Amino acid sequence: CGIIGIVGRDQVADRLVDGLRRMEYRGYDSAGVCTVNDGNLVRRRAEGKLANLIKELEHGSAPGTIGIAHTRWATHGAPTANNAHPHATGHVALVHNGIIENFKPLRDELIAKGRKLESQTDSEVVAHLISEEIENGASPEEAVKTVLPRLRGAFALAIAFRDHPDMLIGARLGSPLVVGYGEGETYLGSDALALAPLTQKITYLDEGDWVVVRRDGAQIFDAENNPVEREITTSGASA
Ligand code: GLU
Repeated sequence: CGIIGIVGRDQVADRLVDGLRRMEYRGYDSAGVCTVNDGNLVRRRAEGKLANLIKELEHGSAPGTIGIAHTRWATHGAPTANNAHPHATGHVALVHNGIIENFKPLRDELIAKGRKLESQTDSEVVAHLISEEIENGASPEEAVKTVLPRLRGAFALAIAFRDHPDMLIGARLGSPLVVGYGEGETYLGSDALALAPLTQKITYLDEGDWVVVRRDGAQIFDAENNPVEREITTSGASA
């Protein structure tokens, strides 16, 4: 139900959880974070309140200067830690807000190819579809370009890549997603409020947009994969 991503200069886990806290008002049943650290995707998830996720992070920290986080309002699959986002393969971690309406045929296709899905969510198929492209040699950008047109329904996505610790990719269709610009840091979030302590400089993505987020800025593409400029607003939201 809420998404935040940080491509940062400093450690991100605490700031990701803080962003989730700012989206608690939307309601949620579970939460999780994933950082990219030293060639690893470090994932922590918990059922229930953010306090449970914070406890998980006390047991095992999530080091790293890049990461994604999510509060989930379950639509497909029970509200368990195992169904909590981020969903991950060896290569890719992903958070999703919305509903992938055609997840069943996509899931059947992945299972027929021998891929092991771990959750009952509609979202996990997207992580696997993107991972499959990467495993076949595609760049993150190529992988996302290939997979987005296959998805029906509504989504905001933030995706982290094990082998690309300098970037996140975001995408939206029917669910909101914003880009935030900091000093040597760049952010993704469901809304400006989630990013308010980090930056007031915000771009609202258009329907069908996807975005490559790096420390020094963001490159936005429209649904036809044309690079586009979108307005940067200075949000009035206060930290
Ligand atoms: N449909 C997804 C799920 O059930 C995402 C729900 C959400 O937007 O939080 O896991």
